[in-house]
Amino acid sequence: KEFRNNVKPNWCPGCGDFSVQAAIQRAAANVGLVPDELAIVSGIGCSGRISGYIKSYGFHGIHGRCLPIAQGVKMANRELTVIASGGDGDGFAIGMGHTLHSIRRNIDITYIVMDNQIYGLTKGQTSPRSAAGFKTKSTPKGSIEQAVSPMELALSAGATFVAQSFSTDLKDLTAIIEAGIRHKGFSLINVFSPCVTYNKINTYDWFKENLTKLSTIEQYDPSDKQQAMQTIMEHDGLVTGIIYQDSNRQSYQELIPGYKEEGLSKADLNLSQEAFDQMAGEFM
Ligand code: SF4
Repeated sequence: KEFRNNVKPNWCPGCGDFSVQAAIQRAAANVGLVPDELAIVSGIGCSGRISGYIKSYGFHGIHGRCLPIAQGVKMANRELTVIASGGDGDGFAIGMGHTLHSIRRNIDITYIVMDNQIYGLTKGQTSPRSAAGFKTKSTPKGSIEQAVSPMELALSAGATFVAQSFSTDLKDLTAIIEAGIRHKGFSLINVFSPCVTYNKINTYDWFKENLTKLSTIEQYDPSDKQQAMQTIMEHDGLVTGIIYQDSNRQSYQELIPGYKEEGLSKADLNLSQEAFDQMAGEFM
């Protein structure tokens, strides 16, 4: 309840993004945050609206650029918990460079991708996560490109926390977001979040039939990177759970001498309204 505001989402009824919103709200409460300790930065796309639907600091950025903004927010206020969020087009097409560099930088933010394998906001075109052969208005004879595999890419780029979930599995999704927030470093959480309006292939039923929970794989060990990569490849990326976590590597912030004690915080800004207005005016 604490993270609910009075803005009514204008997603289509049944859109997977509703559950992601609920899971973020629950996870934030479960880790003991209050709204002014959380910042949500989003990109462009249906999913990008999420920063306006949760009671917290919010920044609805530009296409593919939620990660540079989120990293700036974290560096400017060490006390904030920062969640970046967007769609698969946002993060794995125009924003892919930022995704990979944020991963290798290991800055302490949580990145949640609502992966619906299509561009929903622009009314249904092939995205980098659409499978080969996928037919849309932009590929009427079927896509001739291969889909990107974000989990494989993340592991190759040196990710310290890689997870996937399914938007109907609210309990699991909430637990994974909580774990991502608690992780000291960059956490990438890819959420299969169906677009009920434009993607008639990757539906809720399709995911239910095709996803494998890592908890059902005997002796799966999320600290074993080789097993993580092998499992993703064997299941064509269709697994849910914490795929890989390295809790030993230091985050970007921890490697900056003095940041933990002396990095910027809200208190350091301590601006009067007059000073704030003057500063804001300089940017207008
Ligand atoms: Fe969700 Fe698709 Fe509707 Fe966008 S178009 S709100 S992704 S169901």
